[in-house]
Amino acid sequence: MLNVSINDVVRLKKPHPCGSTDWTVVRIGADIGLRCNGCERRILIPRRTLEKRLKTFVSRAQADPDSTSSSAHVDA
Ligand SMILES: [Zn+2]
Repeated sequence: MLNVSINDVVRLKKPHPCGSTDWTVVRIGADIGLRCNGCERRILIPRRTLEKRLKTFVSRAQADPDSTSSSAHVDA
């Protein structure tokens, strides 16, 4: 299971039309919300699709993602 958190920055295999391959995670759920770091456009993609397209993590919001993954609560 892909372990992804709000504010993680992910790099996808296929670049966005704007040329950027890096996205910031802005929403977690059945679908994952991503904001393009190049043009700020937001998309929602199924978690499974993100797993397929994910190339690598650019940065992680949490230093230790395995410790308290269920306690994260963000009021935007
Ligand atoms: Zn873009």
